[in-house]
Amino acid sequence: MVSQIVKIQGMMDPHVHLRGMDWSHKGTFASETAAALAGGYTAVLDMPNTPPPTVNRAALNRKLDEIGRQAYCDWGVFFGASQEDNVAEFDRAFVHVCGMKVYADATTGTLLVNDPVLLEKLYSTWPDGKPVAFHAEGETIETVLKLVRRYRKPVHFCHISTAEEINLLMTAKEARLPVTVGVTPHHLFLTEDDARVLGPKGLMKPGLKSKGDQRALWLAIDWGIVDVIESDHAPHTLQEKASANPPYGVPGLETTLPLLGLAVQQERLSLDRLVALVATNPRRIFGVPSNAGTYTVVDLASQYVIAPGICARRAAGRRSRGWRGGPGAGSVDSRAEGLRRRKHSRPRRVRRESVRLDSIGSSKWRT
Ligand SMILES: [Zn+2]
Repeated sequence: MVSQIVKIQGMMDPHVHLRGMDWSHKGTFASETAAALAGGYTAVLDMPNTPPPTVNRAALNRKLDEIGRQAYCDWGVFFGASQEDNVAEFDRAFVHVCGMKVYADATTGTLLVNDPVLLEKLYSTWPDGKPVAFHAEGETIETVLKLVRRYRKPVHFCHISTAEEINLLMTAKEARLPVTVGVTPHHLFLTEDDARVLGPKGLMKPGLKSKGDQRALWLAIDWGIVDVIESDHAPHTLQEKASANPPYGVPGLETTLPLLGLAVQQERLSLDRLVALVATNPRRIFGVPSNAGTYTVVDLASQYVIAPGICARRAAGRRSRGWRGGPGAGSVDSRAEGLRRRKHSRPRRVRRESVRLDSIGSSKWRT
């Protein structure tokens, strides 16, 4: 087959759960940023809910220290809004993070903020200049949109998964509210029918939805309502997934680009749109410029099967047979200045080249 090589500049996944710290048995900042590079991503933004949750100075410092020492790719971290009202921490935290994450739905512990008065206080107090990312589902999206109408602070809605939610956000965009929309590859490629087969391995939040919802997500991509495809990479061990209380979350950093490459091959997605969804848009939303010398090489004509045991992460084999990646995905080779011709199976050599993305405009690879 004749190869069809394209270069995608500056792939950034703005929604990952890299683990490390108290959950280092699931993955480390080293293993998960290596997975990012193996999947084509040269930058990732890490969510705040790995214990200890990133809701205060001590937890933020611990994460910054650990990720700073371990990361193989560029990175940023979110600060977490807390139900214990942590606005007093905002000013100090702001300069070190890429934005704030608010869990207005579907989480446990101190990160769940479902008191509308506190929600308004947290959102309205967060300093201007870095977005607020929301986990909000169904009617909670309307609650958040009311706040956006009042305060006009940019909000990124994470992992939107239903037709109803797309309709709400389409209307919000028509009204020119400062909102952006992310969807995940698992909601684009799997449905609740797959969830029944996958069992705990298909367990994530938001859960897999109907075929109609899946169609709505693809239409929303066509119509330009979706701004970002975010992996929501959230690895667990196979033992945990097989336990009586399996945790929510699936890995995704290494499968997102191959799956989207498959969609390009099948002409469900244009290459231009793919680049916007995985690179240009997330960088615009979070104010992170890309470096012309940092790019991912993709052969759009190539095909391979996403098989168990090929991942770069710590617990090999977590890409189980249950994760139907789809045969025929485009192969991926990620490269960047300083990374060229270095194998990601041995990423230790590039450790010192990772750059923190906490200050807008300062991101660049050191070579
Ligand atoms: Zn998430």
